[in-house]
Amino acid sequence: MIYNYLVIGAGLFGATFAHLAKQAGKNVLVIDKRSHIAGNCYTENIEGINVHKYGAHIFHTSNRDVWKFVNSFVEFNRYTNSPIAQSKGRYYNLPFNMNTFNQMWGTATPEAAKAKIEEQRKEILELLHGREPANLEEQALSLVGRDIFETLIKEYTEKQWGRKCSELPASIIKRLPVRYTFDNNYFNDLYQGIPCSGYTELVAKMLDGIDIRLNTDYFEHRSELENTAEKIIYTGPIDEFFDYRLGALDYRSLRFENEILDTDNFQGNAVVNYIDANIPYTRIIEHKHFEFGKQSQTVITREFPQAWNIGKERYYTLNDNRNLALYAKYRALADEQTKVIFGGRLAEYKYYDMDDVIERAIYIAKQELGI
Ligand code: FAD
Ligand code: UDP
Repeated sequence: MIYNYLVIGAGLFGATFAHLAKQAGKNVLVIDKRSHIAGNCYTENIEGINVHKYGAHIFHTSNRDVWKFVNSFVEFNRYTNSPIAQSKGRYYNLPFNMNTFNQMWGTATPEAAKAKIEEQRKEILELLHGREPANLEEQALSLVGRDIFETLIKEYTEKQWGRKCSELPASIIKRLPVRYTFDNNYFNDLYQGIPCSGYTELVAKMLDGIDIRLNTDYFEHRSELENTAEKIIYTGPIDEFFDYRLGALDYRSLRFENEILDTDNFQGNAVVNYIDANIPYTRIIEHKHFEFGKQSQTVITREFPQAWNIGKERYYTLNDNRNLALYAKYRALADEQTKVIFGGRLAEYKYYDMDDVIERAIYIAKQELGI
């Protein structure tokens, strides 16, 4: 045994654990099958712009300790996410707020907007008759009513998930705030921003002084790697660890098309969502606006949702009954492993935001390391 810990995966979970373990005086080896660190929040510098290679990542949290933790490595800017949605050629502010209501119905006061939404919600409240919304469609209708559902939710959601809104869990839409103020901030959290020098730099600083092996798939070197450390932190897919013996957990995948354009400003905002079903992508990201870039060129990314199968990148977990039950079975197998700790979005099969992942890794590290 050369190391106290082998950390499989150089994403935020692995990097947080590795950092705290090193700080506690442990020897740590971090491996990743990819050619780079930082997992899915990896950014690559293209034409002086930090390009978010696995989808746009905005750091937001209400956890002061997590915010202090990330700020101890790099400086964060004051970016506030305020996406715009394009539907049938018209533009709307997100999340659903007084600006959106004004664009949709011309309402100007909170009272008028509330009255309009109450009128819109009548239909579904009568149908539900006191029971909880059973799916995303019912949830959206009871949150904001039919006009907003049909204009800003239905088609986007169906292309994003490849299923009808009536067949999706209500939980997906619960994350979107509804506000009676003219406030386009997508998140309700206390703290928000983007690392000024990119996420890769943040993770590099977290991993400073730690042994790292890239292009190293754990499963290709399992017997050799298993014996290099006393304990393993595994942040890859839980079903793969057990050789898919109970079947594969399902995901939704994405495909990204990047373009460098000879214009300094393509769309005037970092994120523009495309709602209409006849447009195959869900959003266009213009990366320079995450960091108030002044370059003469710009880099944009179109994000196309796609079905997942083994071999494709895993993006969104599908938290329906089949997958949750299957995960519970894998979790039971994981709990029997005394040498391996499973953590992060893939090993816990969970839609974790970055701050959740860091919080969870700090919690596990405290338990494990007694710090
Ligand atoms: P990952 O970042 O996936 O890291 C796991 C690592 O393990 C990977 O690098 C992988 O290569 C490696 N690995 C897997 N298997 C093996 C193996 N067999 N051998 C070696 N290495 C292996 N969160 C936010 O807070 N804000 C956002 O705006 C946001 N936007 C998002 C947008 C999209 C499109 C998606 C899908 C997610 C977004 N998230 C966002 C969530 C965020 O990406 C995750 O919280 C975070 O990346 C999880 O970190 P992790 O370490 O658990 O996993
Ligand atoms: N959503 C929508 N219209 C939009 C943006 C989001 O209907 O313009 C819905 C959609 O179902 C999506 C969910 O809200 O899956 C969460 O979207 P968000 O952009 O917050 O999450 P992300 O895809 O960035 O994880």
